[in-house]
Amino acid sequence: MSRIAYVNGRYVPLREAEVSIQDRGFQFGDGVYEVCEIRDRQIIDEDRHLARLARSLGALRIVWPVEEAALRRILREVVALNRVRDGLIYLQITRGVARRDFAFPAEAPKASLVVTAKGTNPAINAAHAAAGVKVITVAETRWAHPHIKSLQLLPSVLAKQAAREAGAFEAWFVDADGFVTEGASSNAWIVTADGAIVTRHADETILRGVTRTTLLDAVRGQGLCFEERPFTPSEAYGAKEAFNSSATTIAMPVVEIDGRPIGDGAPGPLVKALRAAFHTLAQRS
Ligand code: PLP
Repeated sequence: MSRIAYVNGRYVPLREAEVSIQDRGFQFGDGVYEVCEIRDRQIIDEDRHLARLARSLGALRIVWPVEEAALRRILREVVALNRVRDGLIYLQITRGVARRDFAFPAEAPKASLVVTAKGTNPAINAAHAAAGVKVITVAETRWAHPHIKSLQLLPSVLAKQAAREAGAFEAWFVDADGFVTEGASSNAWIVTADGAIVTRHADETILRGVTRTTLLDAVRGQGLCFEERPFTPSEAYGAKEAFNSSATTIAMPVVEIDGRPIGDGAPGPLVKALRAAFHTLAQRS
């Protein structure tokens, strides 16, 4: 018997179940999910799972794709269509399909809803329970690998949305020690009062931007003074210049941080020079 999935209003064979590549779940991890146990064809702790789902959706400001009562009916239908006696039901809701842009789409798309169910063998679980299981400990690293250009982008989505709501172009993350790490989708730079160009050293706390690397070539090539080290927001507030770098924005002058004008509040000469130098150095292929 082929398994059946519910996808955005339709019950379809699992192998035909598809969502758009523009779905924000696929692009950004911008969505939430729940898994409930099915036991004797019944959903276990459904109310609590739906209450947590409501909290997760509320936290991300995703509008329910269907009324809760309709979702309960869909869950039952998927269990029945897949003839699951014991197993699990998986549901996923994403912010929906939109042109790729980190911040929430200006007009909220309809949220995407996918539900699947599968049977499991209770004897396997019971055997594990009878013997007991082993665990190991690992460092808490969820998500502590900004140096990997991962699709796990939800924190960046929320930061970009905060920036947009504040009328800003970008958000700079500040770490637990009070230092700027980088932008939500860019590297962060300042020029100090004595003219040193500063950007955080590229370790595991930032993404090593390709644009950053090429701009550092330009900095070296022009014999400019630079330091790869962390800086705080307050050092940035007092900087002569600030800028972001990324493949899509090159070196983008920053004229205001947290409402404070940087330098004289206009793009500075160093960032303008680096922006102009960039394409003379960057590889073309
Ligand atoms: N840092 C983050 C978190 C990014 O997402 C990006 C680009 O998307 C960058 C830095 C800049 O990287 P690149 O210059 O390679 O575009």
